[in-house]
Amino acid sequence: DELVLANSAAEELFGFQCEVALRESAEKLIGDADLVQLIRETRSHGRRHTQRKVVEHTCDCNGETRSFRVTLSAIVGANDEITGAVSVLHDMTREREIAKMKSEFVSNVSHELKTPLSSIKAYVEMLTDGEAEDLATPKEFYEIIATETDRLHRLIENILNISQIESGVIKVVREPMSLTGVVKQAVEVARPQAMLKHLSLDADLPPMYYQVEADHDMIYQAVLNLISNAVKYTPDNGAIKVNLSVDERRNVAICEVADTGVGIPEEALPNIFEKFYRVQKNNCVAKGTGLGLTLVKHIVESVHHGQVLVQSEEGKGSRFSFELPLVA
Ligand code: ADP
Repeated sequence: DELVLANSAAEELFGFQCEVALRESAEKLIGDADLVQLIRETRSHGRRHTQRKVVEHTCDCNGETRSFRVTLSAIVGANDEITGAVSVLHDMTREREIAKMKSEFVSNVSHELKTPLSSIKAYVEMLTDGEAEDLATPKEFYEIIATETDRLHRLIENILNISQIESGVIKVVREPMSLTGVVKQAVEVARPQAMLKHLSLDADLPPMYYQVEADHDMIYQAVLNLISNAVKYTPDNGAIKVNLSVDERRNVAICEVADTGVGIPEEALPNIFEKFYRVQKNNCVAKGTGLGLTLVKHIVESVHHGQVLVQSEEGKGSRFSFELPLVA
């Protein structure tokens, strides 16, 4: 159980230098008792061609938890006796994280799809069973079905749009336009949701003579995602403000969405635009897929050469904004 050889990755992982640590005991060099035990077992019980695979092994390395696939093999000498053991550690931490993200994504998407579908199903059943007898009720039911269908549509659009932008196949129709109309449209679409939570939704949208060159539908989607998030992550009776302005000096139009919601912890801010990323603490506030902001960033930055900015304070609220270059 003494060290004979180690490559530089192993040196870095366990924090020793092979030259200095030669012939030191594995126990002393490897801080992980289970791994030392595995090496010992391989050396003492191993036989010719014996190879042992440990699919998952979690190590605490330099204060960090990492997942490894460990392959241990016994080295057999000329007289068939075992002269040592070789351990190969394949770092699977990233793969495991990706697998976890994928399954979380599937479960979130399924949940997001299931909720509106169940309510559509229930209302359709009530309509066909004739449970909506007075005249006002069917209209109400149809409206709910329409809203829920929109939700489904939005979710699927988000997923499709991201993959289309990323693979470069999306058709972008850029035209000179003012942001006023498009922002107003998004505000009105989000208003019923805001009203359900008794949130005030104020929009300061001065008529804009300045124009940006943009794809109307994409910018609409980006603004709607920001306002929907503000609605989702703001507790009842809060306030949302949508604001449009122009910075002539920098030649940009600015759209801001500010809320008095739960906010985002500082350490999470660098990650919120990543695909599938969701702030753990906010999971209980609202369901989601972690795709909305990824799409906003793609639309504003990759497609329109603008910039998305965020300021947020936990427990106080968030201010998301994006800037688009003005048409010269
Ligand atoms: P989701 O579908 O989870 O809402 P997004 O990509 O739109 O995905 O947002 C990523 C994460 O950023 C969310 O899970 C949420 O925790 C956080 N977030 C986004 N907007 C806000 C906001 N206005 N207030 C607080 N947290 C927000």
